[in-house]
Amino acid sequence: MATYACGHINPDSDSICSAIALSYLKTQLKEPCIPARQGELNPETEFILNKFGFEKPVLKTEFAGENLYIVDYSNSLEAPKDVKEATIKGIIDHHKLGDLTTSTPLECWIRPVGCTNTIIKEMYDYHQVEIPKDIAGIMCCAILSDTVIFKSPTCTKIDTKACKALAKIAGIEDVRALGMELFIAKSAIKGATPRDLIKRDFKDFEMHGHKVGIGQLEVVDLSTFDAMKEDLLADMKALKEEGDRHTVILLLTDILKEGSQLLCVSDDATIIENAFGATLQDSQVWLPKVLSRKKQVTPPLEAAFNQ
Ligand code: MG
Ligand code: MG
Ligand code: MG
Repeated sequence: MATYACGHINPDSDSICSAIALSYLKTQLKEPCIPARQGELNPETEFILNKFGFEKPVLKTEFAGENLYIVDYSNSLEAPKDVKEATIKGIIDHHKLGDLTTSTPLECWIRPVGCTNTIIKEMYDYHQVEIPKDIAGIMCCAILSDTVIFKSPTCTKIDTKACKALAKIAGIEDVRALGMELFIAKSAIKGATPRDLIKRDFKDFEMHGHKVGIGQLEVVDLSTFDAMKEDLLADMKALKEEGDRHTVILLLTDILKEGSQLLCVSDDATIIENAFGATLQDSQVWLPKVLSRKKQVTPPLEAAFNQ
């Protein structure tokens, strides 16, 4: 039996960097822990790991009989299929509380902050473990990514403070410039199929008995997708049917214009229109100021589904 730290399916930078940072901390605390991932890395995460000299965490989708620290999620839809057969040792997360349960007591660090790595920074401080320079670098990047360079409404003062402290340890002089480098890397879509793009940062939610899938692509220039929207919508329709979903939404988020183009295929599009008080045209609508799926998209959708 080994102990792993692993984030959600369709991993983002926070999931991967949390797994690495938490594994190092646990190992320092005499509990050897291996960072793992449930899927392929997105180009932003590859950029971060290359920049600070890390290997990809081990690809692992089955955890039966193992110890597991869950990072950056707490719901079964994002967990490995056999999570019930693993021993969950802890959950470190910044999302709404999910439905995972455990058969043994666990360590739980859940806070309404902008990034799991902000919480892991608090754990290092709590245990008085020094953060190595390279780990501080990837933690800093994860915070810049999850908070959209501090612009997301999920970003708190705790996040900006942690990010700056980590930047200092890592010797990063200009965090905002580094943040832009991340989002430029993240905007890369060359060679990616519509399915790759839709699933790159995709989460399924259960809303009033319906399965609703929401993907998000954060880019520095929305015109990147001008020639692709028809193909994206066609594949969203296919994904909706394959997964027996009521709705599939894709948020094309422009981090400079600070808003999202919402693309939608749904059994009942009026629910989506009601959620945002907006009218869909050609299955899409621009939502100004909307950057966060967690805080600005999922809650109004859930409310509209429950009506
Ligand atoms: Mg995440
Ligand atoms: Mg996160
Ligand atoms: Mg995100």
